[in-house]
Amino acid sequence: MDSKIIKNQKEKILVSACLLGVNCKYDGGNNYSKEIDEFLKDYEIIPICPEIMGGLPTPRVPSERLGDKVISKDGVDVTKQYLKGANECLFLAKKYDVKKALLKLKSPSCGLGKIYDGTFSRNLIEGNGVTADLFLKNGIEVIGM
Ligand code: SF4
Repeated sequence: MDSKIIKNQKEKILVSACLLGVNCKYDGGNNYSKEIDEFLKDYEIIPICPEIMGGLPTPRVPSERLGDKVISKDGVDVTKQYLKGANECLFLAKKYDVKKALLKLKSPSCGLGKIYDGTFSRNLIEGNGVTADLFLKNGIEVIGM
């Protein structure tokens, strides 16, 4: 075999698995749309779900960021699981040298620019999800969808 054959490799991208149609959303559903498939057609996709990778079940009680913490609607501090999930996703990004991520908007893990304010009343404030924050701090470009 000729070792000089160069593969036509696509750019890699980490993608919130719920955007791909995986039923990993807190309520057991997903956030799929055809627009996402169209956007991703020229990428090599690495699916991630920080909340599952942090050890949380599906379905699960929804959570929101509150300052430095993440608190579930029934008052449980799930910050540790959110941080674990973010770090597992960063591990994959580093392992496979991925510099870009497409993440689900408004999520306490994946959100970019705007997230819910921690009162579970649908109020949005400026901020990012825990994983989006960690990606940005580590030089990964984040696109929200
Ligand atoms: Fe989707 Fe991210 Fe929430 Fe997982 S953590 S369900 S990938 S928005």
